[in-house]
Amino acid sequence: MASAGTMDKITSLCKRRGFIFQSSEIYGGLASAWDYGPLGVELKNNIKSFWWKTMTQLNSNIVGLDASIMMHPRVWVASGHVENFTDPLVDCKKCKLRFRADMIDKKNMEEHKCPECGGELTDPRNFNLMFKTHIGPVEDEGSIVYLRPETAQGIYVNYKNVMQTSRQRIPFGIAQVGKAFRNEITTKNFIFRTCEFEQMEMQYFIHPQEDEKWFDHWMNQRFQYYIDLGIRKSKLRFHEHGPDELAHYAKKAFDIEYEFPFGWKEIEGIHNRTDFDLKQHTEYSGKDLKYLDEATKERFIPYIIETSAGLTRSVLVALSDAYDEEEVDGDTRTVLRFHPLIAPVTVGVFPLVKKDGLADLARDIEKSLREEFTTFYDQGGAIGRRYRRQDEVGTPFCLTIDYQSKEDDTVTLRLRDSMEQRRVNIADLTSRIKEEIRNYRRKD
Ligand code: ATP
Repeated sequence: MASAGTMDKITSLCKRRGFIFQSSEIYGGLASAWDYGPLGVELKNNIKSFWWKTMTQLNSNIVGLDASIMMHPRVWVASGHVENFTDPLVDCKKCKLRFRADMIDKKNMEEHKCPECGGELTDPRNFNLMFKTHIGPVEDEGSIVYLRPETAQGIYVNYKNVMQTSRQRIPFGIAQVGKAFRNEITTKNFIFRTCEFEQMEMQYFIHPQEDEKWFDHWMNQRFQYYIDLGIRKSKLRFHEHGPDELAHYAKKAFDIEYEFPFGWKEIEGIHNRTDFDLKQHTEYSGKDLKYLDEATKERFIPYIIETSAGLTRSVLVALSDAYDEEEVDGDTRTVLRFHPLIAPVTVGVFPLVKKDGLADLARDIEKSLREEFTTFYDQGGAIGRRYRRQDEVGTPFCLTIDYQSKEDDTVTLRLRDSMEQRRVNIADLTSRIKEEIRNYRRKD
């Protein structure tokens, strides 16, 4: 279910339950900057871990890197970002609003007409998206540094360091998760497009003649990743970049798109960056970045297939895909249908009542599960309300400890999606929950 109001509902749920807050809210907020609260940070970390495991742990030829955000300014000259990383902007002479020309209706652009007030638009001007600052005490041309607009360049300039120290041979990949910054003009739709965001990028170094093969490979792998993350297949599709959409470094590019409540939008780019970046860095640094194939003695600059996903944007995918409302007993149940692997809380533990030793038993059970799962203990209010509170934050499993538990060492395991309840032996809880996670399939 998705409607125009769904984003508002998700945004308000995120605030109400501690997923995501407006940055600097007590000062009136900062446009398009967001803070991740207790549940949001768990969700984001779980997605990051899932990506990291998929890319590095499950691929012996992909290794990690954590490069710094600020780099030598020549990096961004070499990469083409100083010259080309621009958006065409137009201003309305009447209402003074500023727009990205490529996001304005074609007719408005032709007529130079403001989409908000009908006033006259200026001609497009190129606006560089990189944030610029100064390093050291003197603010002059020589001290300029940029906040990286993509994590990729940190990988390229380190490719020989990583290859040599981890003894990788082509084909191999370097994975990195980290912050990136873009001075975006159009920031709306909650955390979809922000000036400060996180990327999960993997750069795959290959022989130039194998670019088609590896491009197809990574396209398929990356599509499957979202399905494994629990995202519905019907909400995912590819979009191939036409010649007018290709970035300055790309020979071929496919986006993976997700159908958000506000329409189909890019969530990840898969790019054939050819030898563009390493050639540029060879020229600008004067260092030899060629690869030597020991077997054939061939020397060449590797081609690079890039998979570039947004982490913060993936959080919005997870929230949008999980959000659901259904009628239960004349009431509306709001439920986040996260895959258990990424749910911020995996197991909620409740004593039916506080007295008669049930709270102590419930606390002991909750403690015994902490090593394996993220748990949450709640003894407040009617049991039905406690279930609903956990449904709303996407907790897939809840346990209720009642009087019978004291007699036969069993508890009630309640499943979020179906609301089914089953009696399970306390001793079997860990293995049972793990099995439920392994076999989890979303119904719709
Ligand atoms: P767009 O055309 O939407 O501005 P892009 O094509 O420039 O995006 P890439 O440079 O390919 O985006 O970035 C790779 C990924 O990084 C995107 O698919 C997206 O998930 C994420 N991303 C890029 N810009 C932002 C942003 N401003 N806020 C949040 N995530 C972003």
